[in-house]
Amino acid sequence: MKAHPFDAQIDARRCLECDEECNKCIDVCPNRANVSIRVEGFTQIIHMDALCNECGNCGTFCPWEGDPYRDKVTVFSGEEDFKNSRNPGFLLKGRDLNYRFNGEVSRTSVDNPDLPEKIINVFKTIKEQYDYLLGVVE
Ligand code: SF4
Ligand code: SF4
Repeated sequence: MKAHPFDAQIDARRCLECDEECNKCIDVCPNRANVSIRVEGFTQIIHMDALCNECGNCGTFCPWEGDPYRDKVTVFSGEEDFKNSRNPGFLLKGRDLNYRFNGEVSRTSVDNPDLPEKIINVFKTIKEQYDYLLGVVE
């Protein structure tokens, strides 16, 4: 676990839930695999699995405890990639939504209203406002 470079006063602002971001993980990614979106009034870092080559830069430069390419909500575009990852996040295939939350994988319809809040808020926001992020990346 990385040492925190600042003091406890600033620690309260850390980007575990992305309510206060520094955006370094966006800047240092050579592949633009981390993006910032607005979810219910907050900014949130989203990770794009298909664009990431796991170089580790974003984890190295994150000033807090984050490993953005591993712990941010991740948009997947391939089934194998989804299966082989442990990241929280989702894969949309037609109307089937595969998602992983707290390590558990589930499959449901996009119309299911009982999805975990963290996943569904991000998913809905992307679907409604950032749908270009859902395009399949080869
Ligand atoms: S690990 Fe992935 S997201 Fe992080 S900097 Fe490297 S390519 Fe970008
Ligand atoms: S580098 Fe770390 S603290 Fe900064 S926005 Fe990314 S995940 Fe959050």
